[in-house]
Amino acid sequence: MFESTRERLQRIFQGLRGKGYLSEADVRAGLREIRKALLASDVHHQVVHDLIERVESQALKKVPQSVTPAQQLLGIVRWEMAAMMGGHLAKLRLQGQPPVVILVGPAGGGKTTTAGKLARLRQKALLVCADPYRPAAREQLETVAKLSGAAFFSADQDPISGVSEACAWARRNLCDVVIVDTPGIPPGESPPPFLGELIQKIPPSDVLLVLDALVGQEAVRIAEAFLPLEPTGIVLTKLDGDARGGAALSLPARIGRPVVFVGVGERPDDLEPFHPERMADRILGLGDLATLAEKLEKAGGEPFAQKAAVKESAFTLEDFLIQLEAMARAGPISHLLAHIPGVKLSGSEKLEQEFIRTRAIIQSMTIEERRNPNIIGASRKRRIARGSGTTVQEVNRLLNQFEQVQRLMPKLGRLPPGWKDMFKMG
Ligand code: GDP
Ligand code: MG
Repeated sequence: MFESTRERLQRIFQGLRGKGYLSEADVRAGLREIRKALLASDVHHQVVHDLIERVESQALKKVPQSVTPAQQLLGIVRWEMAAMMGGHLAKLRLQGQPPVVILVGPAGGGKTTTAGKLARLRQKALLVCADPYRPAAREQLETVAKLSGAAFFSADQDPISGVSEACAWARRNLCDVVIVDTPGIPPGESPPPFLGELIQKIPPSDVLLVLDALVGQEAVRIAEAFLPLEPTGIVLTKLDGDARGGAALSLPARIGRPVVFVGVGERPDDLEPFHPERMADRILGLGDLATLAEKLEKAGGEPFAQKAAVKESAFTLEDFLIQLEAMARAGPISHLLAHIPGVKLSGSEKLEQEFIRTRAIIQSMTIEERRNPNIIGASRKRRIARGSGTTVQEVNRLLNQFEQVQRLMPKLGRLPPGWKDMFKMG
């Protein structure tokens, strides 16, 4: 997610971090670079302009006196970026008995997939197909409903009376949400009149505009065509791909609707709430340890939260192992690593393999060695390599990597005031 945006911004802040004091000229030069990086990331020019202006006015006030000027500037950028994306977590309204959520958007944006993902968030969802145009749409949604364990209702013959019927059925059958999937609108076309009528008639609790993040700021133009339907929120999909920051940063500011969820994969559970601050952290390459911790905890990884939380005391290989095991339970490692600051993703298969070997190496160590790797000399390394089916070089590499992680942990504990809470877990 946001790899290219993140890399550019990280380079800028690394450059600034080398300076003990930031002059006004340094700040302006830094902001010029940030501006370029954001434009290259396909963020809407007006959004970039507003962001830089707000950051500049604050930074010039605060930065020169600060002890850690680069971090202070980073903090201001982070804050303003989050504000631009809505500032706070937005939630679905979900009002009504049962609440009705209608998904609208361009063809291929991810409506049908998102319908299934949303169904997973409730106990008993009813998915309704209201696409009178594309015969395959019904079948696709029916499959999605099965996958998500939701009920299915077809309203494709006459969407308006069909959806009313579906709502009545949902009430009788005590469903806790009705999710209506609608036809994808081809590029350049406006939504068909029946959609507006449907929304008038029902009326839904939430109208979600589902958009593909890969199109960058083009998403703003696409979204505008749907404003007559008065969407209450946005779902931004395909953030697992090589999306740059463009859509996430531009949409809330330009469209005036919050992003409520982001899609991070094709599977039914690949949906995350949109936390503007956490998203800003990801874009800025600060990682998103809060989301990572939540995922690990969901997978039964409390020990991670307790032990590997950003603590200033020693972080041992034992903690590292616990963390790796929690990760193994929490899903594909590439998804998880994307949340850790400073971790760069390459081929995820290779990562998966490396992960298995790393775990084997630590498992081959004695408890004493895990707590105090300094005692691991040449003969211990040979024994560990033999025991784990790896090589001494691999053991060395792990020990080096571990040293880096160990150095990173206390650093996270020394972020500017207010930030530490962000990284605190559990
Ligand atoms: P619709 O036309 O708006 O209903 O879009 P679909 O739900 O059919 O999705 C179009 C394609 O995008 C499908 O191949 C989905 O698997 C894929 N897709 C949807 N959401 C995501 C996502 O968050 N990440 C990824 N990688 N693919 C997605
Ligand atoms: Mg569809």
